[in-house]
Amino acid sequence: MVVVPGIQQVAVLGSTGSIGVSTLDVIARHPQRFRAWALAAHRSVDTLAAQCEAFHPRYAVMVDPDAAEALRKRLAGACDTEVLAGAEGLQRIAAHADVDAVMAAIVGAAGLPSTLAAAEAGKRILLANKESLVMAGHLLMAAARKAGAVILPIDSEHNAIFQCLPQGRDATPGLEGVSRILLTASGGPFRNWTAEAIAAATPAEACAHPNWSMGRKISVDSATLMNKGLELIEACWLFDVAPSRVEIVVHPESIVHSLVQYVDGSVLAQLGNPDMRTPIAYGLGWPQRIDAGVAPLDLVALSRLHFEAPDEGRFPCLRLAREAAAAGGTAMAVCNAANEVAVQAFLAGGIGFNAIPAVIEAALAAMPVVEPTSLSVVEAADREAREIAALHVARYSSRPLAGGEN
Ligand code: NAD
Ligand code: MG
Repeated sequence: MVVVPGIQQVAVLGSTGSIGVSTLDVIARHPQRFRAWALAAHRSVDTLAAQCEAFHPRYAVMVDPDAAEALRKRLAGACDTEVLAGAEGLQRIAAHADVDAVMAAIVGAAGLPSTLAAAEAGKRILLANKESLVMAGHLLMAAARKAGAVILPIDSEHNAIFQCLPQGRDATPGLEGVSRILLTASGGPFRNWTAEAIAAATPAEACAHPNWSMGRKISVDSATLMNKGLELIEACWLFDVAPSRVEIVVHPESIVHSLVQYVDGSVLAQLGNPDMRTPIAYGLGWPQRIDAGVAPLDLVALSRLHFEAPDEGRFPCLRLAREAAAAGGTAMAVCNAANEVAVQAFLAGGIGFNAIPAVIEAALAAMPVVEPTSLSVVEAADREAREIAALHVARYSSRPLAGGEN
């Protein structure tokens, strides 16, 4: 395969998901600048086959081996994409010498090894997979520094903060003159719900986000506010700030994507319609600006923007994430793993909404905090936390929690 100079070869990990599809939408708008060189997903054969026929990537990875076989058969004769199977395929394309940029858009802990591989290979990383930073922020940032990888945040809030921080000539934003980071939160679908109503919330209600269309796991995280807790930790790693310098502000319209406050009283904000193609286009084009296909912001039509403090009483996940951040070490990986198990159980109808924080709290209390000195230490904490969380899920599944109990 001849690599055309000047074209950025992009590996899209998680291409069939919400972020992956938006990434391909932006790439398709700029055929002279970007090529979808590799696509990867878990097991959605139909979607990946359609993407391969549209983008003709060099490689397609299906982590599920049966799905990989099915994809191979589907593509035979239709396009010359080589199909790889298994999680090793992800790491291979993430670190491949022909790849310039890696969109890390796999959901959950499954995204960590490939994101780390991209960092170790010195790639430009468009980081949507916040869970990898939450689990192994120290390892990931150190690997990126060592190999000269550039991490561009795709999470809309962190992308906004990145844009508002004082910028050096490289991708490392500085903190000169910065007093605080103001991380905005939509408040999720249950912002105005009573504790009793929240306790009885269904998966469909939790996934009905008022502003953003997203995958189901992050939608539930937005409903519990664990998403903001994970984002607090993500901000600390990305921008090298202490949790105490990050304030969470609820902003129901999701127009101001976050802000940076300076010592002179200035506050810089990044605004835009809630459409992930804006941060994705920023990451792809950086340091240039490119068209994202996003409608311009109409401030007059909006007319009002609102801000309020988060309520940690009704949304204890925010407190749990803060506590995990304060505990440091593997506590953040434990928090993330228990959350993934609890959210999955909630989505499957196995536990009530309030059991999510209860399971996380139980896992955090049960696990010792150790220094995450290597990927295997982090992975061991992740595994053990999942086992403990599963035991607590089993407890709560026969005993739905009453309103307010957590
Ligand atoms: P999604 O559920 O829509 O898509 C997830 C993707 O990951 C799919 O392509 C799926 O095939 C793949 N995947 C799932 N399990 C996998 C596994 N074990 N191995 C390999 N691939 C696997 O999720 P999403 O909403 O696109 O979110 C992706 C990531 O981006 C998450 O970390 C999320 O927190 C983050 N993020 C998403 C948004 C958003 O607007 N959707 C915003 C900010 C950050
Ligand atoms: Mg976000």
